[in-house]
Amino acid sequence: MKIIDLRSDTVTKPTDEMRNAMFTAEVGDDVYGDDPTVNELERIAAKVVGKEDALFVPSGTFGNQLAVMTHTKRGDEVILESNSHIIMHEVGASSVIAGVQLRAVKGKNGTMDPEDVKRAIRDKDIHFPDTGLICIENAHSCGSVIDISNMKAIKELAVTKNIPVHLDGARIFNAAKSLKVDVKEVTRHTDSVMFCLSKGLAAPIGSILAGHKDFIKKARKNRKLMGGGLRQAGVIAAAGIVAIEKMVDRLDEDHANSKYLAEELSKFEGINVKFDRNDINMIFFELGDEIIEENQFVCKMLKKNIKINGKEDGEYRYVTNKDVSREDIKYVLKQMKEILNEC
Ligand SMILES: *Cc1c(COP(=O)(O)O)cnc(C)c1O
Repeated sequence: MKIIDLRSDTVTKPTDEMRNAMFTAEVGDDVYGDDPTVNELERIAAKVVGKEDALFVPSGTFGNQLAVMTHTKRGDEVILESNSHIIMHEVGASSVIAGVQLRAVKGKNGTMDPEDVKRAIRDKDIHFPDTGLICIENAHSCGSVIDISNMKAIKELAVTKNIPVHLDGARIFNAAKSLKVDVKEVTRHTDSVMFCLSKGLAAPIGSILAGHKDFIKKARKNRKLMGGGLRQAGVIAAAGIVAIEKMVDRLDEDHANSKYLAEELSKFEGINVKFDRNDINMIFFELGDEIIEENQFVCKMLKKNIKINGKEDGEYRYVTNKDVSREDIKYVLKQMKEILNEC
């Protein structure tokens, strides 16, 4: 029996085309710069996001932390949105690796008001840390996308203070699809960008950090320091090339499924769908313990061969992905009807 996995878009299996590309990939020692497949992936990745150069890294967290470390010096302050992935889901790495302090700006569905960012930027004062970096997350992990005009405003502000802007674009292709713009529009107002090959794009491993040539040169050395100098990495980079070239267009399907699932879920009594954060492949909703207790719900869904996470911050999250079809979603809704009618 097939398992329908709604926990994340990281749970996808590589496509046959990826597996074939991995099997036949030409490889070399990438620490020596000898892996032609990694070099090709980095060239394609830089081009697609409109940056001078790019670097293959093991994970999104690795790419973000590498960017933070490369942009800043110890003791700097980094401004970012209060629910951003770097604050919430990266194990406090910025304090361990870069040795920086994070300054949270409360946003609205992930969007920071440029006025708030402006206020958070430090003046020169013997007591103050230097503001070393501003991070924006698009798409934001709360499920919404950030308008290009907002990114532009923050970048214009940053330029006046000589502060670089990093984009956590783990789901940047989802953001571009949702905003109906080319990916280069989403990266335009940033100095560096990280994006994941292993989320909606279904590669088994890997992310990209892209930016100016000098920045990537420095990041390449820091990647080695962080233990991310990989050898015959072409075996996995090959799947990354397929991810960028073949897996972006189909994200529309995940978004359509996400909208459909959100609509249908909202018809259930007691379910409150967060429609203001349903821009990409993620649906957030409340379902109170008085209707069904959390562990019960997760367990009953699993018995129907549906994997979901428990609540985070009081909300469930379903994520559509390439291994979840419209038929699968109809099955999920049918099972939920049964489970919720039982209680
Ligand atoms: C998933 C994610 C990351 C980190 O990616 P990993 O490969 O899981 O380390 C970073 N930022 C955002 C917004 C994400 O959703």
